[in-house]
Amino acid sequence: MKIIVLNCGSSSIKYQLFDMASRQVLAKGVVEKIGLHGSFIKNERIDGDKLLLEGDIYDHQSGIEYVLGILTSVKHGSISNFEEIDAVGHRVVHGGEKFNSSVLITDEVIRMLEECIDLAPLHNPPNLKGIFAMQALLPNIPQVSVFDTAFHQTMPDYAYMYAIPFPLYKKYGIRRYGFHGTSHRYVSQRGAEMVGMNKKDMKIITCHLGNGASVAAISNGVSIDTSMGLTPVEGLIMGTRSGDLDLGVLTYLMMKEELDISTANTLINKHSGMLGITGVSSDMREIMTAAYEGNERAKLGLNMYHYRIRKYIGSYAAAMGGLDMIIFTGGIGENSDYTRSEVVKGLEFLGIDFDYDRNNGLRGEEMVLTKEHSRVKVLVVPTNEELIIAQDTMDILENMKNQGYKIDY
Ligand code: ADP
Repeated sequence: MKIIVLNCGSSSIKYQLFDMASRQVLAKGVVEKIGLHGSFIKNERIDGDKLLLEGDIYDHQSGIEYVLGILTSVKHGSISNFEEIDAVGHRVVHGGEKFNSSVLITDEVIRMLEECIDLAPLHNPPNLKGIFAMQALLPNIPQVSVFDTAFHQTMPDYAYMYAIPFPLYKKYGIRRYGFHGTSHRYVSQRGAEMVGMNKKDMKIITCHLGNGASVAAISNGVSIDTSMGLTPVEGLIMGTRSGDLDLGVLTYLMMKEELDISTANTLINKHSGMLGITGVSSDMREIMTAAYEGNERAKLGLNMYHYRIRKYIGSYAAAMGGLDMIIFTGGIGENSDYTRSEVVKGLEFLGIDFDYDRNNGLRGEEMVLTKEHSRVKVLVVPTNEELIIAQDTMDILENMKNQGYKIDY
């Protein structure tokens, strides 16, 4: 079975073509700057063949059309024709309360996705564009939607509710949803496998640390809490997002600086976080270099960054009533030995015996970072959201076939 996984953003499309029998990525790439000057497509095939295609790409549909052309081309292609594609899996950011797992896309699902647009006005519309484009280009191929929010739908009400007037929850669906669900799900599953345990018997804290960052508490295989909320701005300090903030700070600033809603929104989403504190960059490598060279605000930013993660780990261990494993993932979690060691420093009381030697210099590789007898294990697990999307897509198709459904689009 061959599956295309699509992750459509406002001006970009990331894609991978999976062969599910061998679990190999036959080709992957990205379409960038859609609708802008200087659009291009980069494609890389499993054998290392690389293609860069430059030229105007006006919208998502033409971007995907070019990608399908590349995937089936004689010179740079990976398949001989579209018939070889069994299904398409889409990353969809917000499924609201309507979706607690991945689903086959039907007209009814599209209507429900459109109802979720208010909750993710920047993300869901381009996700839908990708779905519509595929429906137009490959109308006979089933499509599946895999949600960032779905994994966290198992949170209990006392964890997902905000203490605002209850009718506002009912009216607008204001509650914690959480994001990065496919990543938290993948790394918790993989982490349990790596130590030969069953995630259903474990209490795991997963730290997804990229430009966006979130922590999840996963008890007996299900998410019981996570640090991002109604929107991705809550929780950890991120590249440009503030994370947790006294709400009074925002209203105070709006008053003092006479900020309108849109400027206030930009302030907490784009100008805060590590960029705002350090004034150096939102990119962790640049901040670390600045700190190393003596920049005091960069040092402060890093201390704040690590402290916030540590606080979340402590509170989630309490929320679960114990802890068996901490997992680091995302660009920073996978690549920065410094971040990992600074976060676990001071957490020995939880039962962590960290192996600093093994951690030293480790980048982008699966590894257990604690000593043999450590009661709580600490792991690095590089995330693979695309694989989860491809697997869910395959599972849904196979289930339907097994139940004898004819898939009719
Ligand atoms: P996104 O959330 O956009 O997918 P990534 O998961 O790719 O982002 O993470 C990007 C972040 O990872 C950047 O801040 C980058 O500096 C950081 N990063 C990548 N490699 C390293 C490294 N070796 N040390 C520290 N940070 C790193």
